[in-house]
Amino acid sequence: MRRFALPWGELEVFAATEPVPAALRPTTEALAQLENRFRPALLRPHLRPEAPYVAVWPANRPAPDLTGNATPDPHALEEVVLAEIHTLTCHACTARFRAVYPDTGLPIFGRHIGAHQLTNGCPRCGSDFAASRIQALTLLPLT
Ligand SMILES: [Zn+2]
Repeated sequence: MRRFALPWGELEVFAATEPVPAALRPTTEALAQLENRFRPALLRPHLRPEAPYVAVWPANRPAPDLTGNATPDPHALEEVVLAEIHTLTCHACTARFRAVYPDTGLPIFGRHIGAHQLTNGCPRCGSDFAASRIQALTLLPLT
């Protein structure tokens, strides 16, 4: 696990092989099928309760070594977006997905969204974003 200090809190990001705290277990299970660049993370803002998130590196930029003995890299969080696992329903065909949904309202991380390719539209019925209201960093089958 790597702990990153932020001006307004701290972020703990977990490597694939590491145990996670109970609060992160549902997130970690949801991410099991995804690439290594989707990592479970615990955000601890100074002024709000801690919350489970997904730290997402862009597709062209693999996640750094997140184990505790890795050399600290001041650029490790560049272009990282924090996301939540949401259930989305297609407004056209009612298919439901678990979505890795970017939180663009967070300081620092919100403005990194431009480095990421978003899934726009419903993979089930092919409706675009306007009709389906489906948009996410990636979609997971709803089990
Ligand atoms: Zn659909």
